[in-house]
Amino acid sequence: MKVVVDEEKCVAAGQCVNAAMDVFDQRDEDGIVVLLDENPPAELAEDVRNAAAICPALAIRIEE
Ligand code: SF4
Repeated sequence: MKVVVDEEKCVAAGQCVNAAMDVFDQRDEDGIVVLLDENPPAELAEDVRNAAAICPALAIRIEE
């Protein structure tokens, strides 16, 4: 699994961090998503897919 985030689309809603805090964080200054791990381990795959599904800006893309 490879995770790609689009900072231009991100609206700093933070749902991705709640869904998968080992993979996503937010910048302190503006809340824009920070990708901590672009190749997360298999046990986090479901959480990452969930994060992509609930992101209101569709800013998270997953390449399998
Ligand atoms: S859920 Fe989407 S919009 Fe919200 S911080 Fe994460 S990537 Fe950005």
